[in-house]
Amino acid sequence: MDSQEFREFAKAAIDIIADYWDNIRTRDVLPSVEPGYLINALPEDAPEHPEEWKDVIKDFNEHILPGTTHWHSPRFHAFYPTGNSFASIVGNLLSDGLGVIGFSWMSSPACTELEVVTMNWLGKLLGLPEEFLNCSSGPGGGVIQGSASEATLVGLLVAKEKTLRRLKKNDPNIDEDLIKAKLVAYTSDQCNSSVEKAGVLGSMKMKLLKSDADGRLRGDMLKKAFEEDKAQGLIPCYVVATLGTTGTCAFDPLYELGPVCNEANVWLHVDAAYAGSAFICPEYRELMRGVEYADSFDVNIHKWMLVHFDCSAMWLKNGHDLINTFDVQRIYLDDIKTTIKIPDFRHWQMPLGRRFRALKLWSVLRIYGAEGIRRHIRNHISLAQYFATLVRADERFVVEPEPSMGLVCFRLKHGDKITKKLLDNLTEKKELYMVAGSCRRNYVIRFVICSRVITKEDVDYSWNKIKVETDIVCSEEIHTKPQIPAINHIQAATLCEKSK
Ligand SMILES: *Cc1c(COP(=O)(O)O)cnc(C)c1O
Repeated sequence: MDSQEFREFAKAAIDIIADYWDNIRTRDVLPSVEPGYLINALPEDAPEHPEEWKDVIKDFNEHILPGTTHWHSPRFHAFYPTGNSFASIVGNLLSDGLGVIGFSWMSSPACTELEVVTMNWLGKLLGLPEEFLNCSSGPGGGVIQGSASEATLVGLLVAKEKTLRRLKKNDPNIDEDLIKAKLVAYTSDQCNSSVEKAGVLGSMKMKLLKSDADGRLRGDMLKKAFEEDKAQGLIPCYVVATLGTTGTCAFDPLYELGPVCNEANVWLHVDAAYAGSAFICPEYRELMRGVEYADSFDVNIHKWMLVHFDCSAMWLKNGHDLINTFDVQRIYLDDIKTTIKIPDFRHWQMPLGRRFRALKLWSVLRIYGAEGIRRHIRNHISLAQYFATLVRADERFVVEPEPSMGLVCFRLKHGDKITKKLLDNLTEKKELYMVAGSCRRNYVIRFVICSRVITKEDVDYSWNKIKVETDIVCSEEIHTKPQIPAINHIQAATLCEKSK
């Protein structure tokens, strides 16, 4: 393929993307395909001879698009949003065009320095304490990780090394392996699955402490856990607090957890994967009160800030901690010596190689401006509030807990079984996509405002689909009741228990 053909191929692809966005409402959010559909449709072996780009485009339209879940459809209300914008697409394209690997400053100075610049811009926009920024007088700084999962694991590994060093300083003869086996990490029972996984990957016991009735991990609970473990000879090492839990978007009080961690010399990592983007609006910063106690802070810009996966922005107060943990030298990696101020980002992450991810972030920050991003965040939050009003006006439903950010959790008053039936039926129809959660032991449906292009009319559309399906499941419930009395007894018992 020469550059002329590339122009045609790429332009055709851009047209497909633009059409896709223009017509995003015409597709069911969930595809109508069976497992194995694509494996059966495509050849078993790669082509021996070069093929035409037009055939690739044709097969994309015929085979790939029909099997895609449309994450950017205004009918997509599952999980949390994933970032997408034309500005980010172009930034990614430019990055792919250059195709550099930026593990050291010399391997591509612009790649490193644009990351420093944009992470400083972003840190300031979110209102992070200056200590976290590369432009401060201290050793802090930001780095773009691939995912919040990686950031949590990086934090854990650095905390482990830092604790080992501290203990070794006090007693140079200690047995490292014995110490490692005693280290403990803590988080809440509301943590994202990736936090628990970081404990598995990093070989550290991860304790999931009980959250309060609002899904928050409290300071006294953490303090008690530290004390009990210390009494048993264990060593508290790492805490992951969540700002915006995946289940119900609850916020752990950093102002309670921070002092407990600082006093015990325990690393505090903040997982603000989804909700962290909202701190670009000053009115939400109260929710991160106490962030100055944290050692590291991570927000998935690729979730709510219009930038494509992967762009997880992580800041650390002390870049030396990373280098002490991850610096492994090789002669071919010899470089002019850089400093914390101009980092060799390979020491700040797990892989050696790294893409030019700052380009898509830079493109979004410039094309939207802080003002445009704030408008996007505020619009999503106000649409969630609007949806909650609609649900509350229907007496068959309960909204619980209070809607938080772009998330509304709701359930039918008649219990878990019928709420689950409602969600199952809606999913089967493929017109809306939501997933379940749990709140105070109740099964709830999570409704998230996700799409960049969602409007009030789209929310009305989704709500109407929910209402129509509710009419159906409620009338079925009435009709089936007398025929299966055994089940009804159980239902009645559960209902009674619930209402206690
Ligand atoms: C989405 C999410 C994660 C996982 O993010 P990845 O970037 O996919 O690793 C972690 N924590 C919270 C609170 C999340 O919402």
